[in-house]
Parts: sequence; structure tokens; C-alpha cells
Amino acid sequence: MECALCKSDDDRAVHLVARSRQWRVVRVLDTPEHPAYWRVIWNDHAPEMTDLSPEERSALMQTVCKVEAVVRRELQPHKINLASLGNVVPHLHWHVLARWTDDPHFPQPIWGARQREASTAHLLRLEVALPQVDRAIQAELMNR
Ligand SMILES: [Zn+2]
Repeated sequence: MECALCKSDDDRAVHLVARSRQWRVVRVLDTPEHPAYWRVIWNDHAPEMTDLSPEERSALMQTVCKVEAVVRRELQPHKINLASLGNVVPHLHWHVLARWTDDPHFPQPIWGARQREASTAHLLRLEVALPQVDRAIQAELMNR
């Protein structure tokens, strides 16, 4: 069975932000009501955190935390959601999501029950801000 995350770096549903030998960071484009959404993907096919060596796990989590820190600094969300599920694609990846208390699903996960309509003004502000957040993530991860 072919793994979608092994097959390609990038596709129409994501925008590649940064890449190293071990991992890559993409911004997710197919959740229009939650556009402040990045994934940190381990490049090698490994289903679980404990398939990595302690050093590799540390490198992955450092990357996740750097993305989180930049997103907090640039967007000041009310909350960050970090999640690693991999039930659909059993290839290690972390979701980094900026959340606002008035977003369509808060306090549920974005995959949970919808609570309210999205704010168009908020989505427009994010649309303008996100390219700069991507550049800041890239700068944070590549200047090591
Ligand atoms: Zn894979």
C-alpha cells in the first residue's frame, strides 16, 4: 500500500514551508475555516514516536515547538493545538493549529462538532498574515 506522505513533498492541499533531511513543514490549504494550520512531517516512513531514536524524537519535537513559538509570536492565537493522530495516514506527523475562542469549532478540536459560523473578517486578516508567518517559520528553522 502506497503512503501519501512518502509519495510526495507537496501537493495542491499543502504549501511547503521548510524542509530538512529529517523533516518538513507544510501549511495546510484544504481547511479554509482553519487556515492557520501547519504540519511537521517526519520524512522517513515511521508510524509512531517510539519508532524514532531519542535524538530523532528530540529533533522532531524541537521543530514542532519552533513552529508553535513562531505562530504564537506572529498571530497571538488564544490557544495552540498540537496533535499527532496518524489514524488515516500512519506516517508520523504533528499538527500545529492556531485556535481562537470564536473559531468555528472552539473548544472542540477542528475535527469535532461545529459550534458557530466562521468570522469572515478574521479569515481575511489571516489570509493576509499567513505568508509572513510562513517566512518567519522558514527563518526560524533554517537559521540554525
Ligand atoms: Zn509514509
